[in-house]
Amino acid sequence: MNTNSSNMMALAPNTSNKRETVCIFGTGDFGRALGHKMIQCGYPVVYGSRSTQISNLIPKDAEVLSHAEAAQKAAIIIIAIQRQHYNFLTPLAEVLRGKVVVDISNNLKLNQYPESNAEYLAQLLPGARVVKAFNTVSAWALQSGALDASRQVFVCGDDMEAKQMVMNIVRALGLTPLDQGSLLAAQEIENYPLQLFPMWKFPVFLSLGLTAFFFLYCLALDVIYTYVYENNNFSFFIAITIPNRICPVMALILLGLVYLPGVLAAIIQLYRGTKYRRFPDWLDKWMLCRKQLGLIALAFASLHAVFTLVSPIRSFVRWRTSKGIIAQALNNKTEPLDLTNAWLSDSYLALGILGFFFFVLVGITSLPSVSNSVNWREFRFVQSKLGYVTLILCTAHTLVYGGKWFLSPSAYRWYLPNIYMLSLVVPCAVLVVKFVLIFPCVDKPLTQIRQGWERNPKYSE
Ligand code: NAP
Repeated sequence: MNTNSSNMMALAPNTSNKRETVCIFGTGDFGRALGHKMIQCGYPVVYGSRSTQISNLIPKDAEVLSHAEAAQKAAIIIIAIQRQHYNFLTPLAEVLRGKVVVDISNNLKLNQYPESNAEYLAQLLPGARVVKAFNTVSAWALQSGALDASRQVFVCGDDMEAKQMVMNIVRALGLTPLDQGSLLAAQEIENYPLQLFPMWKFPVFLSLGLTAFFFLYCLALDVIYTYVYENNNFSFFIAITIPNRICPVMALILLGLVYLPGVLAAIIQLYRGTKYRRFPDWLDKWMLCRKQLGLIALAFASLHAVFTLVSPIRSFVRWRTSKGIIAQALNNKTEPLDLTNAWLSDSYLALGILGFFFFVLVGITSLPSVSNSVNWREFRFVQSKLGYVTLILCTAHTLVYGGKWFLSPSAYRWYLPNIYMLSLVVPCAVLVVKFVLIFPCVDKPLTQIRQGWERNPKYSE
């Protein structure tokens, strides 16, 4: 059999409108779904299978042949088979020489093998032009057409022409190819489908930990303390009062934590006198998840807004209000309007409303659809300048809320500060350091360092 001539034929440029035949090895879930989609898009499909018997599940216009026969009919062979069965390909090395072999496989665990499946395939078939693609698209999405979330197909390979041929098929199927470079990128591409919100892990665990801590803190001070020392059963505080204390505190702390790594990075750069040395790993990782921290903070702030809005319809609040009115009626005395209190309460509400408005604005700009439509300078302006405005407004909202209570001994049950006082530590620290950093004598050298200037250059001329 002259395999070379058939290879040449299959690789000859296609001048007619007819699409070139594609061979798929494996008639499993993915092979069938991909074959079905390809036939719909006008590609003749031939399957290479261990059994040439046609079953009802196989797309009806497709041919089913042995692996060697099917491979000879096409220039592109898609391997829809698990990696552990790849050994069967070794005897087919000659048939597959010069062909474009597409590896679509995934693993069960991150970095399961020392090399990527695509690199392993390239080692088994040294003469083949191996391309990695399609592994992030699921058989179900291909079959049901629900490809909205997975339209992107990551493609990588060492042979440019082979990669282009695969990217053309991807486009013809209505998907978006994303060239990820050489086959070295395959390991990373194979890890994508196994990742579970990698950037969200630290922010979510941190938020859960802090929320649990503050819940127990409030439970002790607002429920247990009042029960023990004042004989009041305020256990119902668990439903709304305590969550409405925790939410603003969490929102403010997390918002502070969004801006804290930035000021720490500035201090490190000033201290080192260069931007060309890597930050410690923990700071790098922290900076990468700032968006997630900010979005969780926004979720807490939104919950705080909703909890606050339902306050007037709460039975406890209505009881407390009517108790005050009745007390005034019984004493036959109307309390005069306390102007200081009126000012404090209105200012604290206004600061909260404005802070929340800017918070939402900053949150919206972090959405990919919005951030993609603004340039880098506009994005920095919103995320940094408006972000700091949000932090200032929310910190001021909490400070005004605390007001005179900061100095009142009754605010320190069991000698512990109220949680809104704790929530001010991080944002106040960030704002104070930021304030120092914007002084011209500090800002100027920092800007120079960020533009590439070095205090002690390593490579001086
Ligand atoms: P599957 O349903 O288990 O099918 C695998 C096919 O491999 C079988 O139908 C069989 O085809 C062939 N096969 C099995 N054992 C073999 C052996 N010892 N020697 C030769 N061929 C053998 O698996 P699948 O879900 O289609 O997945 C196939 C590949 O696509 C995997 O690497 C997977 O990681 C990848 N993938 C799957 C999805 C998905 O949503 N399913 C998504 C992305 C990537 P024949 O009986 O025709 O020989």
